[in-house]
Amino acid sequence: MTASDRLIVFVGKPNVGKSTLFSLLFGVKVRKGKNPGSTIKPNFFRTKKFTAVDLPGYGYMKGLDWEFSEMVRDYTIRYIEDNAELIVLAIHVIDISSFRKIVEKWTSRGELPVDLEMCDFLKEVCENVVVAANKSEKLGNNLALEVDYAERKLKTEVIPISAKKNNVKSIKSKIIEVLKKS
Ligand code: GDP
Repeated sequence: MTASDRLIVFVGKPNVGKSTLFSLLFGVKVRKGKNPGSTIKPNFFRTKKFTAVDLPGYGYMKGLDWEFSEMVRDYTIRYIEDNAELIVLAIHVIDISSFRKIVEKWTSRGELPVDLEMCDFLKEVCENVVVAANKSEKLGNNLALEVDYAERKLKTEVIPISAKKNNVKSIKSKIIEVLKKS
């Protein structure tokens, strides 16, 4: 395996800001906002030291065909399983501003929230997993409380970021730290 074969994968539900984050980190334009979940083709950004992979948004979303959502979810899981050996870091992007509400809604219906299921899967398969809690600027003073909630639910390190406000330094540092160790 060469250094550039090392994969950093980005996963997350549609509309959490995954593409915005990816563009910001790597300076490449990828699909944005307008048609969330309209494609299952991943975006790749290859460097000498690693390859970053922006996987399609998985999970149900209003206005999206259920079968299509399932297909994307299966594709994401398959991609991660097939490439597990090469993945040095999985970055699970969530929208921290709506995370608690969605988790509580699903839980009250007796269903396992998609993000909890996905995070468990990532931890099982990948060596390093970190949660990038995007849209953190929307929470103001409640941020620490919501990050703490997400950390308890996901049982993983949760790093607050705001792709919109260009505040992604902490996730950059995490990437550098993991690449040094891998
Ligand atoms: P993706 O479907 O996860 O790839 O999401 P996109 O990157 O396309 O972003 C979805 C929407 O969220 C767009 O309208 C973005 O401008 C917006 N967005 C992305 N990052 C942030 C953020 O940090 N804060 C806020 N408030 N909105 C964001």
